[in-house]
Amino acid sequence: MCETGKTCPNARCEDGNLLLGVKGPDGHLQRMRTALPVDGTFVETAARHGPPEARMRFASDCAEQGCDNWTGDRCRAIDRVLSFLAIDDLPLHDRRPPCPIRATCRWFSQRGDSACHACSVVIAAE
Ligand code: SF4
Repeated sequence: MCETGKTCPNARCEDGNLLLGVKGPDGHLQRMRTALPVDGTFVETAARHGPPEARMRFASDCAEQGCDNWTGDRCRAIDRVLSFLAIDDLPLHDRRPPCPIRATCRWFSQRGDSACHACSVVIAAE
């Protein structure tokens, strides 16, 4: 965990990270109730069918200074995603979906429910 204890919902499929959900037939993320640890076997198997990040969502510790998306005090990735999607500050139409990392999620801590909207429809943001 990074110093601030925040979790990145935009991680790669790598050994040691967590699987958060799988893209459903409607293109929306189907979140797991409990995040599943990813190991080397999972990474190898998932990569056989194309980039795993195109079909699944992963989490890791927020790298902050170690990440190109870190501005010094926030993550620019979620700001860019919300700007692109034009869904900033919209309330969730359904009840807030279950998420195993919400309590520590960097994106949720910055943008609240709007980040949950984005997380549902965006698989990985550079
Ligand atoms: S700065 Fe953003 S994209 Fe980078 S690790 Fe942290 S939450 Fe993830």
